[in-house]
Amino acid sequence: MAAQIINGKAFAASVRKKVGEHVARLKSEHDIIPGLAVVLVGEDPASQVYVRSKGKQTAEVGMKSIEHKLKANISERELLALIKLLNEDETIHGILVQLPLPKHLNEDLVINSIDPAKDVDGFHISNVGLLGTGQKSMVPCTPLGCLMLLRDHHRSLSGLDAVVIGRSNIVGKPMAQLLLGESCTVTIAHSRTKDLPDVIRRADIVIAAVGRPEMVVGDWIKPGATVIDVGINRIDKPEGGTRLVGDADFSSCSEVSGAITPVPGGVGPMTIACLLANTVTACCRSHDLKEPDGLTV
Ligand code: NAD
Repeated sequence: MAAQIINGKAFAASVRKKVGEHVARLKSEHDIIPGLAVVLVGEDPASQVYVRSKGKQTAEVGMKSIEHKLKANISERELLALIKLLNEDETIHGILVQLPLPKHLNEDLVINSIDPAKDVDGFHISNVGLLGTGQKSMVPCTPLGCLMLLRDHHRSLSGLDAVVIGRSNIVGKPMAQLLLGESCTVTIAHSRTKDLPDVIRRADIVIAAVGRPEMVVGDWIKPGATVIDVGINRIDKPEGGTRLVGDADFSSCSEVSGAITPVPGGVGPMTIACLLANTVTACCRSHDLKEPDGLTV
C-alpha cells in the first residue's frame, strides 16, 4: 500500500500563520515586536541563500528582521563584541549565527557567547543541557519541526520504537532527546553501527539525518513505519542538471512505510518555520507573557 505523504510545506505554512497571528497580538495588546538578528560571516553561497530566506520569512510574519553580514576575515573578538551588543539589545529576542563559521573562529565559543534566552537555534550548551534533562529550553529548529510533524501524524508516540540515523549535535542528538521526551524507545544509529538495516527494521519511526543520498531503502523499513527524511542532497540527473533527494530512497520507502516526508517539501520548510516559532517563544518568555500553544515542546 502506498504511504501517506506528510506535507511539511503545508504544515510549515500553518506554523507561520500561527506565528503571524501571535506577533499581531503581541503588537496590538502589548506594543511588542519580536526581533530576530541573523549573523552571517563570509560569503558561502548556500549560507547566503538560507539567510536571505530567513530574513524574508521573518519580515512576512510581521517580526523585526536584522541581518549582519560580516567579512570572512573578521576577528573572533569583533564577532563576540557584536554578539554582546545583540545580547544587550532589548528589541532583539532571537540571535542566530549562521553555521558553518570560517575555520579561524571557534564555533563553540561563539555559540556559547549568545544569551541562552535568545539562542533560537538551541545550540548553546545551556539549552542542550536543559533539553537533555527534560526542562524548558530553546529547541533546535530542524528536530523541533520533525517532532511537530510526528505529533500531528501519530495520536501518541509513547512506547514506539524510534531509530534516529545520525548523531550530529544539530539534528541527530537533539532529535533523540525529543523522542525520549515523548516516551519513545530510542536508538541512535551512526556511521559505526553494525547491521544498520536490521536496526532500522525494528523501528516504528525512522529519522534519517545522514547526508547520504537515498541511502535508506524500502527493504530496511518495517511495513507501516513512519519515515522522516531530514537529508537534503543535490544529485546529478541522468538527462543533465541536478535535483534534490533525501537520505531515504523515496520510491522504495513509500511502498512499504505508512507515512513519509518527501524531499523537497517535507522537513526542509519546517526548519525556518520553527526558527520563527522559537523567536516568538523567546520574545514571550523575555516579557513573561503566555507562550503560543503548539509552537514548542
Ligand atoms: P552530519 O554530517 O553532521 O552528521 C551525519 C551523521 O550521519 C553522522 O552522525 C554520522 O555518524 C552519520 N552517518 C554517516 N554515514 C553513515 C552511514 N553510512 N550509516 C549510518 N550513519 C551514518 O550531518 P547533519 O548536519 O546532521 O545533517 C544530516 C543531513 O540532514 C544532511 O543531508 C543535511 O543537509 C540535512 N539537514 C537538513 C536540514 C533541514 O532543514 N531539512 C537541517 C540540517 C541538516
